[in-house]
Amino acid sequence: MNDLNFTSENQNFKVVIPNIVLDEIQILCKSSYPNETGGILIGFYNEQYTSAIISKFMSAPPDSKSGPTWFVRGINGVKKKLDQLWYKKNEYYIGEWHYHPDSSSTLSNQDIKQMSEISCNENYKCPEPVLLIVGGRYKSWEYSTYVFPKNKKFIQLDVVDEFGGSKELDSR
Ligand SMILES: [Zn+2]
Repeated sequence: MNDLNFTSENQNFKVVIPNIVLDEIQILCKSSYPNETGGILIGFYNEQYTSAIISKFMSAPPDSKSGPTWFVRGINGVKKKLDQLWYKKNEYYIGEWHYHPDSSSTLSNQDIKQMSEISCNENYKCPEPVLLIVGGRYKSWEYSTYVFPKNKKFIQLDVVDEFGGSKELDSR
C-alpha cells in the first residue's frame, strides 16, 4: 500500500504519512483495543514549511492514561527524546496521534481543546501541530488528519489519491 498523502482544500497544508509508520501505529492500536492509545508524531518540513513529512512516532509515554473513550498522553521522557532527535537528526515534534476504538476518526471537542493548547504552548515550538486520529478497528481502520494553526480554526485535511485528486478514504 502507498503512503498516505493529506492536503487542505487550498493546498496550503500537506502531511505525508509513510505506510510503515501507519502499520506500526495500527499494531499499537490493535494491542490497546478496546482502550484508546496515542502518542507523538515526529518528522520534518519541506523548505516552504507547507508539507510535514512524518518520519517516526512515539508510542504512549509510561505516565499516559486511557479508557475506551478517552486518552491522556503522558509527558515522561518526551522532552528528552525530542531534544535528542533534534540534535542528532534534525527531526521535530509535528503533532499528536491517538486511537478511537470502534469509533469514527472524527475529532472531539476535547481533541480541539488539547491541540489548540499545544499550538500556543512555547515548549512544543510548533505553531501548526498536526493531529492524526485512527478510528475503527483491526482490518477496518479509518484515518482523519487535522492541522491546528495557532489562534485560528483547525483545518481538516483530505486524502489525496495517486492521481492528485482528493477522495474519501476506504478502510484498509
Ligand atoms: Zn480523540
